[in-house]
Amino acid sequence: MSCLINRSLTFKYPVAVAGDGIYVIDKNGNRYLDGSSGAGVSCLGHSNTEVVEAMNEQAKKLSFASTVFYTTDIAEQLAEELVSRAPAGLRHVSMGNGGSEQVENAMKLARQYHVDTGNADKSIIIGREYSYHGMTIGTLGVSGHYQRRELYEPMLPDSFKIPPYFEYRHKAEGESIYEYSMRAAGYLEEKILQLGEKNVAAFICEPVVAATTGAVAANSTYFKRIREICDQYNVLLIFDEIFCGMGRTGTLYACEQEGVEPDILVMAKGLGAGYQPISAMLFSERIYQELLNGRGYLMLGHTYMSHPVTCAAALAVQNIIHRDNLLENVRSTGAYLKQRLITTFGDHPNIGDIRGRGLLLGLELVVDKQSKKPFDREKQLWKEIQTCAMNHGLMCYPNQGTVDGKSGDHILLAPPYIINEKECDELVSKLEMTLNELIATP
Ligand code: PMP
Repeated sequence: MSCLINRSLTFKYPVAVAGDGIYVIDKNGNRYLDGSSGAGVSCLGHSNTEVVEAMNEQAKKLSFASTVFYTTDIAEQLAEELVSRAPAGLRHVSMGNGGSEQVENAMKLARQYHVDTGNADKSIIIGREYSYHGMTIGTLGVSGHYQRRELYEPMLPDSFKIPPYFEYRHKAEGESIYEYSMRAAGYLEEKILQLGEKNVAAFICEPVVAATTGAVAANSTYFKRIREICDQYNVLLIFDEIFCGMGRTGTLYACEQEGVEPDILVMAKGLGAGYQPISAMLFSERIYQELLNGRGYLMLGHTYMSHPVTCAAALAVQNIIHRDNLLENVRSTGAYLKQRLITTFGDHPNIGDIRGRGLLLGLELVVDKQSKKPFDREKQLWKEIQTCAMNHGLMCYPNQGTVDGKSGDHILLAPPYIINEKECDELVSKLEMTLNELIATP
């Protein structure tokens, strides 16, 4: 009996003891192909000694210096690196540890900006249905992952949501992509007017929705219209790129592919690749100037902000991503993997949709393709897939809530950026064995 609590109180987890490229190895010597980088984290795989050495170097020099008193060279260097490659308007950055922490910061920053610019009524953050922004009370409040919200619902702050952009399930028969994009973006304007523009502080969304609906992207028509609406009503636009950012979709920032810049952008997972827990928030010059003219400090601050060892790890990770041209690999190997999935599962009666960008891909599971009906929620197919895939030596990231935040199952694939085509073949073949075992094929 273990006294350690991970997640499930009953599941007997294998004990991970080592990493080898894209594989995790357990105590019994079993090797698992990491087809999801854990939960979208380990983008450099599991045994990058260069990152470990960079952490070591920093830890030997200075492990920690409180941001109450100091800045450090390593945090300054990482800030410069992130800002130099960020969308042009995002010129300032703060660093923390977890994704939820950074989403909380983004919401608070939006509030401070509006208060400091004389719009003290602005406090509402609008989110999208079926998006996920974190596990704290505040971030669950703006999340539309109803399965994760359910237990805490009475504790959560009032929630203001618009429907998602989700072609497979929400685009009407005969509606063009353009028409659907304009309709989906139009929900934001309706919501702002309904709540009163003087009350709305920000709109938050994931440019590519990861965990809740499984790699659902939109397009630049949609995001350009969202940007216009935000500008028109003085509503800040927050992009949550915690999962989809830092190269995962083939560009360093996912929003580069839409040609739209947010006012605030949060990132985490791929930033430190799991070598250290680090997250960051970028924000615009305009916000910075107003804060400077206002109270002159950020009403945020956590003990481990800009922790030197986390910054050293993230800087090393980012240097490797660019030096080794890994974003090119995300694009080309991502295209190869998607094609392999389409060839293998395109005609599978229970795979309704195969989607995603770069190395962020999703397969949606349905009872039949015609009705797009999801599997019974109680069956918990996603859990069965996770366990069965592990038995076949594969980590993938199945989830539930695809259709309405509660029901519907999908499998998310997000392997490390260093994966090659042969390893993609192995991934697909292990996934095929898993699905053959669990769901009857034609
Ligand atoms: N936002 C998104 C889009 C995420 O995917 C996650 C984590 N899965 C979070 C926020 C929360 O991050 P964390 O678990 O590090 O708090």
